[in-house]
Amino acid sequence: MILTDTHTHIYSDAFDEDQGEMMQRAIDNGVQRFFVPAIDSAYTQSMYAIESKYPENVFLMMGLHPTHVKENYKEELLHVEEELEKRFDKNSDTKFYAIGEVGIDLYWDTTSLEIQKEAFLHQIRLAKKYKLPIVIHCREAFDEVFEVLESEKGDDLFGIFHCFTGTIEDAHRAIGYNMKLGIGGVVTFKNGKIDTFLDQISLDHIVLETDAPYLAPTPYRGKRNESSYLINVLEKLVDIYQKPIEELAAITTRNSKDIFGV
Ligand SMILES: [Zn+2]
Repeated sequence: MILTDTHTHIYSDAFDEDQGEMMQRAIDNGVQRFFVPAIDSAYTQSMYAIESKYPENVFLMMGLHPTHVKENYKEELLHVEEELEKRFDKNSDTKFYAIGEVGIDLYWDTTSLEIQKEAFLHQIRLAKKYKLPIVIHCREAFDEVFEVLESEKGDDLFGIFHCFTGTIEDAHRAIGYNMKLGIGGVVTFKNGKIDTFLDQISLDHIVLETDAPYLAPTPYRGKRNESSYLINVLEKLVDIYQKPIEELAAITTRNSKDIFGV
């Protein structure tokens, strides 16, 4: 069984003490593919460091996280562009597999909405330039995110709606923009809501994620999350879809290959 964690911050300082053991626990649980979203330039070197330790397993994204879109966002976007240029140079033997995580977050800060939108749009255009998927972070901002996606929709716009927590209508809408739904710990929460309708969404549109070190699934809720807990998310999907665990692992890994091209 090969599991794919499509969203995990394995370079986080939450793992400073035990990064190697954390990775081994995940690999022992079948998690062999780690897709790693960026946050801002402060983390770039630690992302490269873990990639070089696990070159077969770790696939990096590049982007500016919406909660890190601050006064210096133009410099940060320039950093994103420069790193993309370096890695998509024909002499580079490494690349990025998505632009992420990008989007809009109105939970932490509503005053930066305009620059968040601008950064999101700018990064969608970078994704199109490099023919990459986008990985969307959306918190209390469905209308705003959909407005941007509507303006950019097309065959060259595709990706993952990470940590999907919307309604069934939001789910259909996201799928309409060529997005897969990233399902993580929230699906195991008692009040997580998405478990009530997920069985009406075809498995073709689902990928698994942890968002480690955040949003640990039950029974670890409130604790540090890690990629080995992807198995707890998968077990919840077994309940919801009433399908064998191996089949769910295979489908969700296949979906991740369709998106990331690897
Ligand atoms: Zn994240």
